[in-house]
Order: sequence, then C-alpha cells, then structure tokens
Amino acid sequence: MAHQGGVLATIRRALPEGRALADEEWASRHRWIVGLIYVHAVFFVFYGLIRGFGLIHSLTEASVVATAGVVASLPILGRHTRAIVAALGLVGASAVFVHLSGGVVEVHFHFFVVIGLLSLYQEWGPFLAALVFVVLHHGVLGAVVPETVYNHDAAVNRPWTWAAIHGGFVLAASVANLIAWRINEQTGSHLHQSEERFRRVFDDSAVGMSTVDPEGRFQAVNQAFCEITGYTEAELLVMTPSEFTLEDDVVRSHDALALLLSGATQSLDMEKSYVRKDGAIVNVFNSLSAIQDPDGNVVGVAGVTQDVTDRRRAENALAHQAFHDAVTGLPNRNLFLDRLELAVARSARHHNMTAVLFLDVDRFKWVNDSLGHAAGDTLLRSIAERMQESLRAGDTLARFGGDEFAVLCEDVVDVNEAIVVAQRLSATFVAPFILEDDRAVTVTASVGIAMANSAANRPEALLRDADSAMYRAKERGRDRIEVFDDEMRARAMSRLETEAALRHAIDNGELRVHYQPIVDLDGERVVGVEALVRWQHPERGLVPPLDFIPLAEETGLIVPIGSYVLSEACTTIANWNKAHRDRPPLAVSVNLSARQLASPGLPNVVAGVLVRSGLARELLCLEITESVLMEDADTSRDLLESLKRLGVTIAVDDFGTGYSSLLYLRRFPVDVLKIDRSFVAGLGTSSEDSAIVSGVIGLAHALGLRSVAEGVEQPGQAVELGMLGCDTAQGFYWSRPLEPAALNVWLDEQVVTISSETASVGTGPSPDLA
Ligand code: C2E
Ligand code: CA
Ligand code: CA
Repeated sequence: MAHQGGVLATIRRALPEGRALADEEWASRHRWIVGLIYVHAVFFVFYGLIRGFGLIHSLTEASVVATAGVVASLPILGRHTRAIVAALGLVGASAVFVHLSGGVVEVHFHFFVVIGLLSLYQEWGPFLAALVFVVLHHGVLGAVVPETVYNHDAAVNRPWTWAAIHGGFVLAASVANLIAWRINEQTGSHLHQSEERFRRVFDDSAVGMSTVDPEGRFQAVNQAFCEITGYTEAELLVMTPSEFTLEDDVVRSHDALALLLSGATQSLDMEKSYVRKDGAIVNVFNSLSAIQDPDGNVVGVAGVTQDVTDRRRAENALAHQAFHDAVTGLPNRNLFLDRLELAVARSARHHNMTAVLFLDVDRFKWVNDSLGHAAGDTLLRSIAERMQESLRAGDTLARFGGDEFAVLCEDVVDVNEAIVVAQRLSATFVAPFILEDDRAVTVTASVGIAMANSAANRPEALLRDADSAMYRAKERGRDRIEVFDDEMRARAMSRLETEAALRHAIDNGELRVHYQPIVDLDGERVVGVEALVRWQHPERGLVPPLDFIPLAEETGLIVPIGSYVLSEACTTIANWNKAHRDRPPLAVSVNLSARQLASPGLPNVVAGVLVRSGLARELLCLEITESVLMEDADTSRDLLESLKRLGVTIAVDDFGTGYSSLLYLRRFPVDVLKIDRSFVAGLGTSSEDSAIVSGVIGLAHALGLRSVAEGVEQPGQAVELGMLGCDTAQGFYWSRPLEPAALNVWLDEQVVTISSETASVGTGPSPDLA
C-alpha cells in the first residue's frame, strides 16, 4: 500500500498542478474544438463520397462524429465530461478519417494532431480518454475489420500488437504534451506570482505610481496617484501628464520625459506642481525612470510621485519667517543686509550710489506703553504701509524690530536724492494714524542717511553710520533728517575706541570710586557719602562719568561697571565704619542706571554685596534717576519693592527733571527725594527756583520722605536750604567727590572741626567747612 501510495503520489506530483483555466478561457477553447469536430463531420461526408462509400455510409460516419460535437456542447454536463466527450469526438474523427482512407499509414498522423489539440484543455482526462480509445479502437477493429484500421499485412495479422504500438505513440505524445504543459504552468505560476506581488505593491503603495507609454500617455496609475491628482484611473488612462501639470512646469516636465524616452538618461528626479482636478495646486516630487524591453529599447517611463505640498509650505513659511518681520511682513534685518550687500557690490560696478536710510519713530514707546501692544502693532503696520507706498518699486523697506525701519535706495545720483526720499518718508507721518476704536495718534520720525559709493563700504558699517545719523537727528530734537558726515564718522570712531577700551577697564583695574560727603543741614554733621565712578584712562587721565556712562549704558557694559561700583563702595564704607566705631556710622549712596534696573538679577546682586561687605543694610541707599523710574512705572514699582525688602533705602535722583506723577510717587516705596542741582543753583537769585525747591521739600515732608539738595556751592544756598527745612545736602561747598584716602583725611578733619566747634559754641560764626 505504502509503495502504491508512493507511486500515486509520484504520478500526481508529475502531473501538472491542474490550475484550472478560468471558465471563460476554457469555454472559448472548447468552442474551437467543438467547431473543429463539426468541420470534420462535414468534411467526412464529401471525403466518403469521393472515396466511393456512398451517401448513406458517408452520412452515417459523419453523424457519429457530429453527435460527439453536439453532446460536448450540452451545458448540463460538467466541464470534465464535456472535455472527454470532445476528446472522444476528435479521436473518433481520426478513426473515421483512417477508416475512410482505407487505413493509410500517413493518415494515422491525424491522431497526433488531435493529441496536440487536446492539451488546450490543460486537463489529463481528455488524454486518457484518447489513449483508451486509440488502443481499443485499433485492437478491436484491427481484429474484426482490419482493413478499416491498417493497410499493411504486419498490422492486419497482429492487430493488438499494432494497437499497442499506436497506443504507445499516443501515450508518448500525451506525456510530451503533459510535460510541456507542466513546465509552462510552473513558469507561468512564478510569473503570475511575481506579477501579482508587483501589482499589489503598485496598487497599495502610499506614494503615487504611474507608467507612461512612449507617446507620453498613461498606461497604469495606482490609487495614490489618483488621490494626488484628483482624477480617477479611467480619466488618467486617456491623459498625458502635461494636461494637469502647472503651466510653468510644462516645458520642463516635457523635456524630462523626452530625455528619458530618448534613452539619454536612465532616471531623473524633478519637483513640479500639478493642478488637481478641483483646481488646487499640489507640489510633487517625481522620481522617473525609463522602462526598457529586454533589447534595451525604451518602451515607457515609470514614475514615483510624492505629494510634498505640506513640506514645501512649511519650508516656505520657515524661510519667510527667517527673513521677514512678523508684525509688518516687511523684510527683516537679515534680508536687508543681504540686499544691501548685493546693492553695494552692484553700485561699485556701475559707479552710482546706494543710500541707506535709518528711521526711528519718535515717541513710539509712549504709544506702546500707554495704548497697549496691540495698538502699537497696528501703528507699526500703518506706518509700514504708508512708507511702502511712498517708495519706488525697487527700494527695500525693512523693519529691524521695535520702532526702527531701514530703507535701501539703489541707483541714487547723490545725497540730495536720498534726502528727497527721506522727506517723502517724513511726510507720510504728517496725517494722524487711526488705530482701533478710531483713536488717532500723531507720531513723527527721525531719519539718518548714509551713502555708499564704493564696495569698500561694508553693509554693517553703512547701517551703523545711518544709525548714528538718526541718533543725531534725535539729539537735535527729533522729527528731522540728518546725513552722516565726517564729524559723525570721527565721533563714531572715537566711540568705538572708547567702547573697546571700556571693555577692559574693569579687568585692568582702571575704574575708581570717589565719594562726596552728604551733610546734615541741622548740625552740619556728615551723615553719608555718594559713590561716584571715574575712569582712570591710561592716556586720557581721569575720565568723568558723563563721558562714558551713556556709552556703557548703551552697550550694556554699565551692568558689570555698576556691580563693581556697588561692591567697591559698600566694602569701603563698611570698612570705614568698622574702623571708626566711636563715630556715627556713614551711609553710602550708589547710583543705578536704567540698564541695571532692567537686568533681572539686580536684587540678588545687591543682597550678595551686602553680605560680602558686611555693610548694615539700612546704610545703603540706591539712587535712581526720576526719568528712569517713570519710564515704566509698573515695572519700577515691582522692582523697588523687591529692593526695599532687602532693607535698603531708595532715593529718587535728579528730582524735578522727570515729570513725576504725584500718584506714582505716592505708590513708589521711596525714602528720599534728591533735589536736582539745577534748582539749587538758582537759590537766592531765581525766585522760581526757590519756589520749586521749597515745593519739593514740602512735598517730601508731606509724603514722609527725606530731602537731599545736590550741588550746593555757596554758603547762602546752604543757609536758605536750611531755612526751607531741607534735611541733608551735598556740594562743592562742603567737598568735591574724594578718593578714599582723601575722604579719610576729610572725615578726620570733620571730627576736629566739629569738636572744636562744639568747644567754641557761642564764640562766633561757624567756620567755613569747605
Ligand atoms: P549725579 O548722580 O547727579 O551725581 C552728582 C554729580 O554732581 C556728580 O558728578 C558730582 O561730582 C556733581 N556735583 C556734586 N556737587 C557739585 C557742585 O557743588 N557743583 C557742581 N557743578 N557739581 C557737583 P559726576 O561725578 O560727574 O557724575 C555725573 C553723573 O554720572 C552722576 O550724576 C550720575 O548720574 C552718573 N554717575 C556717576 N557715578 C555713577 C555710577 O557709579 N553709576 C551710575 N549709573 N551713574 C553714575
Ligand atoms: Ca546721584
Ligand atoms: Ca543727581
């Protein structure tokens, strides 16, 4: 059994898979075979007559064959049965042919033709039926009526042997056919499988795929490609890619196809845009490659298409962001510098001039602070719009942030032309700007102009020059136009030098702190000192603070400088207090700049200095200029409060010059008002100044604050201040600011003077202390 099973299995394995033909295909082949059977039947009628068999005989033989044809066509029979019947019909036809021919050997070849035809069924039933038929037919008829089968004696005498021989050939033909069939089926199935696999990849791919023929028409497209283009497969299959390629890209894309189809290149990538069926534009990335036949001829192009619209959009947005200002949409500093560089290079070639205008909106900060940032942004946008309209098409208007704008004018003849442009820009500020809720604001602009006429002008330098000129316009009262000139250049150069030197001043130990005594007007006793910085410049000597503090403020250097002064002053005075425990302790006042106030670590810096120096916290007074305090009152208040929590006192410096609102003053946690020396100077001569000083002192007292008068030079001023009730004062009358050693000497002298004064009470007027 096992052996038999083994044989069967071997046979089955040897037989073709029998992957059945599709019904349609089978039916069409079957129709052909049945048709052939009928052709034979008709042929036999005539052949029988020619061969002299008579009509009845011929008709009978033909009808047997025709009957097989009819039965094989009956739909109620299954496919197998009909195939076997058809096979019997065909081999039957062979048998009739042999019979009518009188057993001619050559006519037997018909059997082999038939066996060949039967392989069309791709089933082995018909072969088997044919084989059995041939053996039985040759054997039985060969034995009974041999002349109908054979026409030579050897076969007539031994019909069964010759039946076996014929059967053997038929079997061999069948086997040959089966083998061919099996081989075809195997390669066919591999092909089929890989085709199937490819088809699935093609159809299900997330990227678009398509092929076009040599005429550029689509041959195949997948679902993803349909989705990208918005067209259905049926629509695409009668189109060419150009039909939905964006017009700008048509030539390029046509050229690419031509290159591939001509064989000039095997593959190429290109980015282009499609117009979708719904009209939307999509950006696509196409990887195209030529399809070649086995001989290397290009028979089409295959494309892989990716929708990169979102990626492109994001990239464009990023690029735009990097080079444009978010509020106004204008180019930003980077883009401006880029264009300026190109312009300067161009102007060098063409010997014409390039102008850079730097424009700052006057009082913009006021709008922003009082009306809010939204209003500020609206104002900036309106300004940008108006200015843009007033410029020529080729000019570049950029916003540098804040209220700063820059204009690049190429191809100007001379500086006068640039001035005209600047005047046009200024003129756009004349009409009020209307903000949200119909609020109208009027602002002006300060404009600086710098000209470039050679490539030696670096863009950054040009911009800086225009900025300096703008600064000059501000200094000279705003709402003006200034042109950068040689004097400004010299100033700018010296500024640059000073800045460079100042950077090293701290590290090189060039900063000095001097101290000016502050006296109590009651008993003219020293109560404290004000720390004032100086710069011991290696070449320029002792530089007064007003010559470098503004620059330090602008560059931010004031922050480390201020920290240094604070630390130095606290340490010096703390040490003096420790060394003179027998005398009343000295307080020390230190000036703070706007930039220092804005730096977030200030309270920590102050706390750290107090700890390290050992100065009693109530002895430190921080002086802040009135105008600085009022600039951003809310922020100032918060900051003052956190400084107050450290236990230090706060003085409002230069009081009377900064338009303090009484309201703020009341809410600020300050302790001292320092009366500006410009008012003190007029004491005794200007009744107005006297009134102001008296008013400030009154105000201070009303608010519970102490008053300090600055810049007292004359004994009369000291006397008047005393009469007005001023608490303390400082000035050259008592002492100039002194370096620490000189201060020590001065303070020691005070003890002597005061004690001698005490000793001589009632003996005469006070001696001159200065
Ligand atoms: P300030 O805070 O108002 O300092 C007082 C200025 O008046 C000092 O000028 C002082 O020398 C001067 N002065 C004092 N008594 C008299 C007088 O009787 N007559 C005249 N005409 N002037 C007198 P200085 O030292 O040149 O300082 C100028 C300004 O520089 C200071 O004005 C202050 O605003 C700033 N400053 C000085 N040191 C520093 C500092 O360490 N940090 C900061 N942020 N600013 C400082
Ligand atoms: Ca001061
Ligand atoms: Ca002052």
